[in-house]
Amino acid sequence: MAKTTIYCECGAPIVVVGRNRRDADAQARKLAGTAQCDACRRRAFDQKNAEALAASAGLPPLDGTARQVPWAASIRLEILPLFDTVPAAMLEGMVEEIAEFTAPERLEAARLELADALALIVTEFRAITDAEWWIESRNGASEYGVESLIRKELERREEILTPTVWNARREFLAAVR
Ligand SMILES: [Zn+2]
Repeated sequence: MAKTTIYCECGAPIVVVGRNRRDADAQARKLAGTAQCDACRRRAFDQKNAEALAASAGLPPLDGTARQVPWAASIRLEILPLFDTVPAAMLEGMVEEIAEFTAPERLEAARLELADALALIVTEFRAITDAEWWIESRNGASEYGVESLIRKELERREEILTPTVWNARREFLAAVR
């Protein structure tokens, strides 16, 4: 028995065992560049499952390279459930924030706009099929991460999506200036 160490593309060592030195080296040569460590093999398995799960859940197929798609599919599966819970959790906090500069009689309109805007944004996010977008959003696979994804989009489109809030903020800022 002889052992040779080769390396996974992630850098983890993989020990190849052969009947003797020659055999071990020959096997190592054959496996070099394609062998995966246990962690990478598990991840590849999870990603394949993610694609199958997504298809059975009726999610749109992702666009990207053969390498990006399974990775993005597993990230999407982690993030999607958060789109169901985070907006509702955000709404009350955001209404409190805007109450500081919004007249009480306009607060209900502002709340409705905000609720609609949050729903619209997560609907749009759910429909994104660009694998790269999901991969770039992978750090968002947490409540905090999803909240900041949504907030960024909301801020970018505040004037159109939540005009009551936008106007109230502008008036408030003009008054304190
Ligand atoms: Zn690896």
